[in-house]
Amino acid sequence: MSAELIKKYNVPGPRYTSYPTAVEFQPVERESLQRYLIDRNVVPRDVSIYIHLPFCASLCWYCGCTTVITKNKGQADEYLKVLEKEIKTLARNLHPEHNVRQVHYGGGTPTFLSPVQLRHLGKMLHKYLNIDLNAEYSVEIDPRSFTESHLEAMMDYGMNRASIGMQDVNDEVQKAIHRIQPFSMVEGVMNTLRKAGISSVNLDIIYGLPKQTSERFKNTLDAAAALQADRFAIYSYAHVPWIKPAQKLLEDKDLPAPNEKLQLLQDAIDYMEKLGMVHIGMDHFARPDDELAVSLKNKTLQRNFQGYSTLSGLDLYGLGMSSISSVGDYYFQNYKGLDDWSQSIERRGDAWVKGLKLTGDDRLRRDVIMQIMCSRSLVFKDVSQKWNINAVEFFANELKQLQPFEDDGILKVAPDSVEIYPEGRHFLRNIAMVFDEYLAQKSTTPTYSKTI
Ligand code: SF4
Repeated sequence: MSAELIKKYNVPGPRYTSYPTAVEFQPVERESLQRYLIDRNVVPRDVSIYIHLPFCASLCWYCGCTTVITKNKGQADEYLKVLEKEIKTLARNLHPEHNVRQVHYGGGTPTFLSPVQLRHLGKMLHKYLNIDLNAEYSVEIDPRSFTESHLEAMMDYGMNRASIGMQDVNDEVQKAIHRIQPFSMVEGVMNTLRKAGISSVNLDIIYGLPKQTSERFKNTLDAAAALQADRFAIYSYAHVPWIKPAQKLLEDKDLPAPNEKLQLLQDAIDYMEKLGMVHIGMDHFARPDDELAVSLKNKTLQRNFQGYSTLSGLDLYGLGMSSISSVGDYYFQNYKGLDDWSQSIERRGDAWVKGLKLTGDDRLRRDVIMQIMCSRSLVFKDVSQKWNINAVEFFANELKQLQPFEDDGILKVAPDSVEIYPEGRHFLRNIAMVFDEYLAQKSTTPTYSKTI
C-alpha cells in the first residue's frame, strides 16, 4: 500500500457502524418509539442483544470507552438489579416467540464481574428472553481479570466466542498506557479458551500507542501470530484528549509521529498478508476459513455497532448505560451516565434518551454505505430496483466525487457499477463519506477519529 495514499486519505471520518452516525442523534420521542416497537414486534423476529458492562478495576490511559472505574464489585450487583428491569422491559416489547440469535457482552470489562455475577446475568437473560441454542454468544475478555471460573460461568449460559484485549506486549508500552499484562497472561487466556472448546477467538491490537516502535510492534505481531487467533482487529489509537480527558495522562512526546504511526499500520497490513489472513475491511483480518472471510467472499457480510458480522436482518437491542439499539427504521441510545441510566430505568423501565428515525433518504444511503463497507461494490441496477430510483442519476454528484479515488487506483466507476479494488480496503470509510448526506451539509467535519 502506498504511503502517499495513506497520508492523503488519513482524514477524520466516521466508522459507519451506523448511518446516520450517532453524532446526528437528537432527543428521542419516547411515545412514538414505543409505538413503533410494539408494531414491529407483532410478528416474531430474530434479535441481537448487546449488553454494556461498564466497570473496570483501573483506567487504561488510552481508553475511549464509556466506563466506570471501581474496585467495588458491589457496584456490579446494583447494576445487574437495574439491568434485570431493563431486560424485563425489552421482553415486554418483543413478540413472545422472538429468537435471540446473537449476544455480545462489551464494556468496560465484562470479566470485572465475578463468576457468580456472570452466572446471574446469564440466568436473567435465559429467564426473560428466548436465547437460541445456537446463538453467537461473544464476550470481550480482559486477560487481567479472567479465570477458568469466569469462562465456565459464561459457557454454562451459551458463551461460545471471545475477543481478547491484547493491545501490545512490550513492557515499556504497557507502562506508558497504564495497562500491565505480561504476554504469558494473554497466552494463558488463549490456552484456557481453546481447551474449553471456544473455536472463535479475536485478538485486539492497537497501533500508535506511546513508546511503540516498529521493532516493538513487530514483537507484538509475532506474539499475536503465535497465538493463532481466528480474527485480528488492529485498531488505530485515536488521541482525542479533548473528548477523553484521561488521555491527557499520556505523554505527547512518547506518541509515535504521524509518519511513524503510518509505518506501524503498513507493517501490520504486510504482516497479516504474509500470515495468510484475509483483510475483511478497515482494521479487521480473519483466517480464510473464518465465517467473516467466507461471508466477505459470498457478499453476505454485515456491519453493526459491534463491527463486522455474518448475521443479517437482526434487530439489535442495546442494554446497559450508553448502549445503542438499531431496530428497523430507528436508532436509539441509552443515557451515558450510570446514575441517569439507572434512575431512568427505575422510573419508567427504559433509558432511551437520544436517537433518530431514518428518513427514506437515510435508508437508501445506509444501504449504499453498508454495501461499500461490506461488499466493496455497488451494482447500479440492484440499487435502482431496490429503491425505485435511477441510481446513476440520483447519485450523479457522488459518482463525480469518486473520480479522485479512480485516479488513485482505488476503485473503478463502470457504466453499471462501482468496484473497489483490493487497495481500496483501507479507504472504505473515505469512499463511504462521499455518500454521507449529513457530512455533505456540514461546513466542518464533526470530531471523528482518522480514517486509516
Ligand atoms: S479495560 Fe478497556 S474499557 Fe476498561 S479502561 Fe481499559 S481500555 Fe478502557
